[in-house]
Amino acid sequence: MDFVFPQKCISCDGEIQEGDYFLCVPCRDDIGFIQQPFCFLCGVPADMSYDYPHEEFVCGDCRKNPFKFNQARSLGFYDTVLRTTIHHFKYRKQTGVLSEMNLLLEKYFQENPGFYQGFTVSPIPLHFNKMKERGFDQAFLIARQVAVILKLPLEGGLLRRVKATSPQATMTRAERTLNIKGAFEVNRPEHVSDKDILLVDDVFTTGATVDEAAKILKQNGARKVYVFTLGRVVVGKGLGY
Ligand SMILES: [Zn+2]
Ligand SMILES: [Zn+2]
Repeated sequence: MDFVFPQKCISCDGEIQEGDYFLCVPCRDDIGFIQQPFCFLCGVPADMSYDYPHEEFVCGDCRKNPFKFNQARSLGFYDTVLRTTIHHFKYRKQTGVLSEMNLLLEKYFQENPGFYQGFTVSPIPLHFNKMKERGFDQAFLIARQVAVILKLPLEGGLLRRVKATSPQATMTRAERTLNIKGAFEVNRPEHVSDKDILLVDDVFTTGATVDEAAKILKQNGARKVYVFTLGRVVVGKGLGY
């Protein structure tokens, strides 16, 4: 595994200060946290052309086709420096970039404490073959840090992947929902029943993956399932509430 720290900012190639990890200060500041207004349920940012009605507004997508999870929140928009950071993390095996993530997570939860008391933190599992290919599991590493920051218990092996799925990059939510169906099983039903679970993943795109996991957890008796991801992809506009 490559633990070499770069000499330049991974995003802009600029100089990084001593004590910084992978990003220069301006690039780090460029990762803005997702702020209100957003959908109370799925966390998608509201279209700013609408008047912001109240803190618990529900987006058109959630009203038409509700998710199985109760609530989802993401740290920042994927289409920023965050994307470069996650890519380094995921594909270049620079696990040292985790220090950069930890910094962001700490700052985020300081500003957005959430309501996660009593929750158990659980990562979305990678398929075994991908784990072998990459050598580490970024969702687990993010989940572990979230658990430390929020002082919550971490259950690394609550779910397992039982099905290899096709790459989902170009699929719609409906296509992804079909693709991911049956991908997860619960390892320890007794640790799920009557529990509130905070599912953690790296990126929320259409929500199909976390939703399938939430469905399985609820079938096994989970009470609330909340979702937290680092990045959020926002496709389309016009939430129409
Ligand atoms: Zn930079
Ligand atoms: Zn929504």
